[in-house]
Amino acid sequence: NKKSFGLVGLGVMGKSLARNLARNNFSLSLYNRYVQGSEEKIAEKTIAEYPEFVNASGFEDLEAFVNDLETPRKIFLMIKAGKETDEFIDKIVPFMDKGDVLIDGGNSHFADTKRRIDYLQAKGIFFVGTGVSGGEKGALEGPSIMPSGPKEALDLVTPFLMKIAAKDKDHNPCCALIGPDGSGHFIKMVHNGVEYAEMQLLAEVYAYFRYVLKQNPEEISEVFHTWNQGKLKSYLLEITAKLLTKKEGDTYIIDQILDKAGNKGTGNWTTVTATEMGIPATMITAALFARYISTIKHNYLLELPSDSSEYKKLSISEIANAYEVARMVNHQQGFELIRTASETYNWELNLSEIARIWTNGCIIRSGLMEEISTIFEIKKDLFAAESFVDIIKSQKVDLKAFCMGSLSADLPIPTFTNALDFLNGIRNHTQTANIIQAQRDFFGAHTYQRRNDPSGKSYHTIWE
Ligand code: NDP
Repeated sequence: NKKSFGLVGLGVMGKSLARNLARNNFSLSLYNRYVQGSEEKIAEKTIAEYPEFVNASGFEDLEAFVNDLETPRKIFLMIKAGKETDEFIDKIVPFMDKGDVLIDGGNSHFADTKRRIDYLQAKGIFFVGTGVSGGEKGALEGPSIMPSGPKEALDLVTPFLMKIAAKDKDHNPCCALIGPDGSGHFIKMVHNGVEYAEMQLLAEVYAYFRYVLKQNPEEISEVFHTWNQGKLKSYLLEITAKLLTKKEGDTYIIDQILDKAGNKGTGNWTTVTATEMGIPATMITAALFARYISTIKHNYLLELPSDSSEYKKLSISEIANAYEVARMVNHQQGFELIRTASETYNWELNLSEIARIWTNGCIIRSGLMEEISTIFEIKKDLFAAESFVDIIKSQKVDLKAFCMGSLSADLPIPTFTNALDFLNGIRNHTQTANIIQAQRDFFGAHTYQRRNDPSGKSYHTIWE
């Protein structure tokens, strides 16, 4: 008897997803490539290792793996993104039949997904790209899943994906049909970008507590833990509270970790995409560059002069207020990027649904995300929501104070200052872009529009 679902790539994520599928009683064929010189048959070993694999078979032979599946076949790829995925597609497709579906759960670029959909469509094979978020634990216990592609193919695979996904507060799966093309991978990319900025914001808050208020990691953890009981609640806050207290002997592990952040490229993609689309996702960009900067410790500039002026110390509730506003700006910027892509590519994305499937299972799940899902049911723009406007109006002063306090202590706070700059930039109290337009018109005759002419007509001045 043939199996109902196939999975390729039993690495960190693939193995956990396979166990999740098995726990949901799906019969499975599992494949992991044969590694030259290895005695180990990874798929068989994995099946032997976990009791939930009662109805699964393991393969290293691709043809046998494909033949073990009922048609139309549903095969989930959880392998390295990039050229490895293209190479693998070319290896497996000759064994597949028209009407079968390949699902790519790796962190693929959304443009690659669109290209693969078109490439395989010509061969009669369906291709679905899906974002998967939640890391290893999420994959096992329920990730957030963001599939996109041809409708017929989505209908074939969503029963499986809905079943293994996390559940939101109303017990609905954190999985939704996102839209056509690579829209699923697009929103996963932006999810990761927003995640970069959320992580960096917490690192900057930590810096203030540690280096200005001179609190130890345990004390900071206490504060984060308390915040996590209220409206600032988020998965990243929860894990940061936990990791701060972890010790090896008498030392905190975080004090042993090199001050150098890595990345796997999705923040870079988000930044490039935002730039290409003309969307100021400044906090994501700042968070990405903060990681790059962390890899530079410049020998000649390790000691820089610093004045001893001190700004007033902020209270914990002022810091919380600043953090809350900065997170709102980050989410506004991320969702604006998604909204713009939806319009540009005619994807007709449902922002409320996207926020809803990010309320559980994924890394940026939070109380704020639940609120955002509700706001998008009636508004197109988070900054048009009363709850956002009220908080930003009353707490922007704390955001400014936090920036001043951190800057006066020479702390790098790129995401906080970008949140503040964004808010100062979008209001109407000063003008600077008029100088830019005049400069452009001066040297390049690029023209400008006038305040007293609402028609939008272009004017040019002979400046000299
Ligand atoms: P791992 O490195 O743990 O596993 C990678 C898997 O891909 C292994 O099974 C590996 O096989 C297989 N693989 C690598 N190259 C090839 C190839 N050329 N042909 C066939 N199989 C290949 O990575 P993860 O499980 O962490 O990630 C898998 C995918 O999921 C990636 O695209 C990643 O970006 C994405 N992802 C990861 C998340 C995470 O939190 N880790 C979250 C969401 C998505 P072998 O064992 O033989 O090397």
